Amino acid sequence: VTVKSVACHIFAQKTAMIKRFPLGFFPTPLHPLNKLSEQFSPHRVYIKRDDMSGLAGGGNKTRKLEFLIGEALACGYDTLITAGAQQSNHCRQTAAACNKAGLKCHLIVRGEAPEKPDGNLFLSRLLGAEIHFTGGEIMAHHPEELIGKLRQQGHNPLFIPIGGSTDVGTLGYVFAVEEFTLQLKQQNIEPDFVFFASCSGGTQAGMVLGKHIHGLQAKLMPVSIAKPEAGLPSLEETVHELVNACSNLLQLNQVPDIDQCRLIEGYDEAGYAVITKNETNTIKKAAREEGILLDPVYTAR
Ligand SMILES: *Cc1c(COP(=O)(O)O)cnc(C)c1O
Repeated sequence: VTVKSVACHIFAQKTAMIKRFPLGFFPTPLHPLNKLSEQFSPHRVYIKRDDMSGLAGGGNKTRKLEFLIGEALACGYDTLITAGAQQSNHCRQTAAACNKAGLKCHLIVRGEAPEKPDGNLFLSRLLGAEIHFTGGEIMAHHPEELIGKLRQQGHNPLFIPIGGSTDVGTLGYVFAVEEFTLQLKQQNIEPDFVFFASCSGGTQAGMVLGKHIHGLQAKLMPVSIAKPEAGLPSLEETVHELVNACSNLLQLNQVPDIDQCRLIEGYDEAGYAVITKNETNTIKKAAREEGILLDPVYTAR
């Protein structure tokens, strides 16, 4: 998607680190799960609570949005457009972030408008975002028409792709790893594995780069949430591209090898946001053993 000023983008990218717009409460807690650790003994299980990032229900997109919004403000955009599924966490957090930053928010959402919106769709509307339904089930959204229309009306819109997974958005998780490694040191924990859900690629790319930059020793275990639709690049390709782009942004002379971070597949067979016994069992376990409510689409997988 073309944007108004390429030079402004380059400038904003170079200075993206200082153009961080505060949205969340960080560090998010890192704490042991004692009852689950007992069950999985001798393993010790910890959780990093990015659900507690604090913006309108919290979640991992807030970390990306701090940099994406920073970039938008630095470049003088007045409107953000993003896209996602009807229950998109990213859309909800973007709507809330825009309000704090004084930007207008347009969401391109898959499918038909439901009679009674619920969940994240309800919340995005409550937060004041203007919602455009695609009518179809296609994940690849085409924002050009909306961008053109908004420009004609005198607005200056920036399109953020699904999940906020751009080079700038990826910075959020490079910084998350810095925060995480500091907590590990403070709590004297040396984890063997870090599991996380991976879907649009920004979280994984940021974790890979962050591990490289901040010397995290643990092995990264990204769990695939959905297979990409036909014709779209694989998640591995997307992560590869994001790692390269974000390395460029940070002017790193050495790009980490992403082959060391293999995607865990097999949990994504049912398809995006289809909740199976696996997810319900995990949600119940986390809720009943630890009092933690897991996201059904991502974390429960
Ligand atoms: C979006 C999301 C993820 C995946 O992050 P990506 O950067 O899109 O791979 C994981 N967990 C939750 C709760 C999310 O909303």
